[in-house]
Amino acid sequence: MRDFRSDRVKAIPPSGIRKFFDIAQEMEDIISLGVGEPDYDTPWNVREAAIRSIEQGQTAYTSNSGLPELRSLISRYLFDRFGTDYSPKNEIMITTGASEALDIAIRSVVNPGDEVLVAEPAYIAYTSGVMLSGGIPVHVPCLEKDGFRLTPDSLMEKITPKSKVLLCNFPNNPSGGVMSRADYKAISDIIVDHDLLLISDEIYNELTYEGEPASAASVEGLRERTITINGFSKAFSMTGWRVGYLCAPEEICSAALKIHQYVMLSAPTGAQYAAIEALKNSWDSCKAMVNEYHVRRNLFVNSVNRAGLPCHMPKGAFYAFPSVKDTGLSDEVFAERLLKEHHVAVVPGSVFGPSGEGHLRCSYAVSRDDLLTAVARIEEFIGKL
Ligand code: PMP
Repeated sequence: MRDFRSDRVKAIPPSGIRKFFDIAQEMEDIISLGVGEPDYDTPWNVREAAIRSIEQGQTAYTSNSGLPELRSLISRYLFDRFGTDYSPKNEIMITTGASEALDIAIRSVVNPGDEVLVAEPAYIAYTSGVMLSGGIPVHVPCLEKDGFRLTPDSLMEKITPKSKVLLCNFPNNPSGGVMSRADYKAISDIIVDHDLLLISDEIYNELTYEGEPASAASVEGLRERTITINGFSKAFSMTGWRVGYLCAPEEICSAALKIHQYVMLSAPTGAQYAAIEALKNSWDSCKAMVNEYHVRRNLFVNSVNRAGLPCHMPKGAFYAFPSVKDTGLSDEVFAERLLKEHHVAVVPGSVFGPSGEGHLRCSYAVSRDDLLTAVARIEEFIGKL
């Protein structure tokens, strides 16, 4: 029998995260800082809104682009919060999580052979998404010395005549790096001069602890060449609902809608009603969760520094990215031994790209007690080395 798998699928390397979860699942007394999702239940009023929608029989498809009320609320939210102006009629579509938005954004614009600049370290789905559409991922390093931001120099160095798209995510998974409006401004001329399209994944924007969160499309010159991606998973602790959104100028938005209508039809209906409630009435819950992440960030980063792993203070998301370079171990070996010998699960930074090498991604979306126990175990491990 022949190998039925496509060349593109075969070319994608297996997820480096999986291996660690497989080991962790077999063990007891594990503290996991490995998972990238909030540790809160979705706010009750949001759950109730979905229950109500089911009781009322709202169980059919919605329009392909999503419930009009939800698109209007998103439009208003983006305008009030970031000053970005997207029409709910034809520039916003509701997707099955930001994951789908990312996938269809890439597939809407990338032709085989196009180079896609990926600001890294990067969320693991980016490189595979680019490869599945036949594009060529080109890593653009965001370095610790720059606060893991994307700088004009780094970007310039990687641009070639084949560059078409720049894919980036701030606040960043895994580094916690944040781009301010001024940072986006600093790269905007390069994006315009080289006629690039920006795909900006801003799913952690509400989880910004220092300064105002910024949206790339609010910067002059970028709106017409940006696809903005966001969702409800992180801000409202709604990972399992699978609801996100994509915003873009009409031509690009309708191209993405073309794929969405064939592969997804519409995002889950109950989840869209839940999302309406989140945007209307759940900002207090969002703020309370963000305040707690902020406290945990300070607690974890300060104590892991004291324990002997240098760690920059991340400005957003819920990940700390300490360095293990001084220990003499690679991030992979450090993470594997920390898991096997001290029962703490973290993700080796190299999984997220070459600039992640020598770092560990530690999610602080876990209880304060677990964070302190994890740090004590890390300190014990370092003491042994
Ligand atoms: N983008 C980034 C940077 C993420 O970290 C995640 C989730 N870990 C996603 C997108 C996917 O989010 P969603 O649950 O909305 O699909």
